[in-house]
Amino acid sequence: MSDARPGMRQGVVAVPTRTVEIVEVGPRDGLQNEPNVMSTEMKVAFIQGAIDAGLRRIEVASFVNPRRVPQMADAEAVLAALPRRPDVQYVGLVLNGRGFERARAAGCTEIGMAVMASDTFNRRNQGVSTEESIAAWSDIARDAHAAGIRAQITVSTAFGCPFEGEVPVARVVDVVERVAQAGPFEIAIADTIGVGVPSQVTEIVGRVRERIPDMALRFHFHNTRNTGLANAYAAVEAGVSTLDSSLGGIGGCPFAPAATGNIPTEDLVYMLQRMGISTGIDLEALIRTGRWLQDQLGRTVPGMLTKAGAFPAT
Ligand code: ZN
Repeated sequence: MSDARPGMRQGVVAVPTRTVEIVEVGPRDGLQNEPNVMSTEMKVAFIQGAIDAGLRRIEVASFVNPRRVPQMADAEAVLAALPRRPDVQYVGLVLNGRGFERARAAGCTEIGMAVMASDTFNRRNQGVSTEESIAAWSDIARDAHAAGIRAQITVSTAFGCPFEGEVPVARVVDVVERVAQAGPFEIAIADTIGVGVPSQVTEIVGRVRERIPDMALRFHFHNTRNTGLANAYAAVEAGVSTLDSSLGGIGGCPFAPAATGNIPTEDLVYMLQRMGISTGIDLEALIRTGRWLQDQLGRTVPGMLTKAGAFPAT
């Protein structure tokens, strides 16, 4: 990555000085919280629309108990219907060894797991303590490495917990260091319920870098309190080069009833591109997919570019 500041300009033309990779999480994090179960065909079309717009890492399904998460019951069918492309990573979310086996058999090229910095949230969400989830992650990472599948881990509720309140940065850093021992190719840090502010992002990045300077970091923001895009900007300013977002800004959190979705992919891409940061994504195609998604869901999505369009108009 270049050390140049984002948005560095030469003359009047913005010269891309950096690249930010975007992971599209709408088909999983977004749809998982939809009240109506979406068809497999709709999910596959959604993922295809994301690929067509240039997204190359897509969280396509979670391999969890279908009784607990009916929206993801067709994970295998979704994977089976997707085009096999060496340039696209299909990410499957897993919580345990059984989920990993399903994701591997279904053809996921990357698996992700999440452990919560908040022990109470971990118990409510996964039924076990954070310690037990870290142990499960170690086993999954070992199995993934043996199977030649990329494995990454998310440390969730890093900016606050609906049950415990403030989550100390020292606790976040401790969990990050523990999960790093299993050798993920990347660690994500998530504001699961959308309470974070930019100064927290800067502090967390700095404190994590002090301990594990070479680890690739990704951030995952929700826009529940309208700070999502500001947090994304803070992460980019701090040198983070991978961000999660969802088309249309769909999503939520079953443990935070008022939570809105992830930061909208189209809004994030607009901001980055106008700053001269390259994403490899076709914004107009992204907006088309966002509007298609809106039609499929039958309601207005939170993404602003889906309403306003890009600027300058093309
Ligand atoms: Zn999320």
